[in-house]
Parts: sequence; structure tokens; C-alpha cells
Amino acid sequence: NLGMCLIFTFIQLGAFTQQQKSLTSLFYRTKYLQQLWNTVVLVALVLSTGVIVHARWQYQDNQKKQVETGRKSYLKQDILKRLSALKTRIYRQPKVRCDPTQTQPVEMDSCAVCLEQYNNNQCLRVLPCLHEFHRDCVDPWLLLQQTCPLCKRSVLGEKDRDIVIC
Ligand SMILES: [Zn+2]
Ligand SMILES: [Zn+2]
Repeated sequence: NLGMCLIFTFIQLGAFTQQQKSLTSLFYRTKYLQQLWNTVVLVALVLSTGVIVHARWQYQDNQKKQVETGRKSYLKQDILKRLSALKTRIYRQPKVRCDPTQTQPVEMDSCAVCLEQYNNNQCLRVLPCLHEFHRDCVDPWLLLQQTCPLCKRSVLGEKDRDIVIC
């Protein structure tokens, strides 16, 4: 009888420890789930913060770009306005004098940009330094570099200077 009683007690004890174990494992599982959930929430938070910060950066970047583009187009318009104020003239070929003593050929003017000789009625741009070029040749250059292609003098800095056209 005593033996039976002891065995029964052992079985009960065993059952109790089993229950305890399963309870502990459940507790750990819950704790693990909680930790997992916490991690997921943390990752989601970090990700959303990153997305928000990135969007904000992009927005600021776009705004900066817009301001820059606006400033550039304003500058370009300003340059265009000031370039259009530069003098132009229509080229007329100088008359060749019938001078038999003159052996030197008449020197033809040519455009330093395209290296072609000026033809009658072509429109020339006269820069403040008095260098002349085809208007169509030099204007794209002046839009980028506001200097004379030959002598590198600024063409916009001396707008008040009188230009003598011969
Ligand atoms: Zn030219
Ligand atoms: Zn020049």
C-alpha cells in the first residue's frame, strides 16, 4: 500500500512538474511573441520615419531645384535682355577702289567663330570691344559665356559705354 501511495505521489508530482513546464513554456512563448511584436513595431516605426524623412528631403530638394531653375531662367532672361541691347549692324562689302598701284588684295572681314567671310546684308553683332561676329554665330556663345570669343572682355559689364560703329 505504501508503495502504491508513493508511486501515486510520484505520478502526481510528475504531472504537476509537467504542467509547470508547459505553463513556463507558454509564458516564454508569450514573452517571445511579445518581443517579436515589439521588434515588428520598432522596425515599422523606423521604416515609416525613414520614409517620412526621405519624402521631406525629396520635397526640400525639389523646392531647392525649383528655386534654382527659377533663378537660372531669370538670369537667362536678364542676359538675353542685355544681349539684345548690344549693337548689330548689316554688313556692307567695302567698295574696291580702282587703284592700279594697289597690289594688295582687299582684305575681307571674316567671322572668327565660323571663319567664313561676311557677305553683304548679313547681320553682325558688334561687341563693346568692337570685335564683330555673325550675330547667329556669336549669340549662342554669349548666352553661355558673356565674354568676347576673341579678347575675352566682358560684353555685359560695359553696357553704358558708347559703341562707335564705323
Ligand atoms: Zn560666323
Ligand atoms: Zn573682343
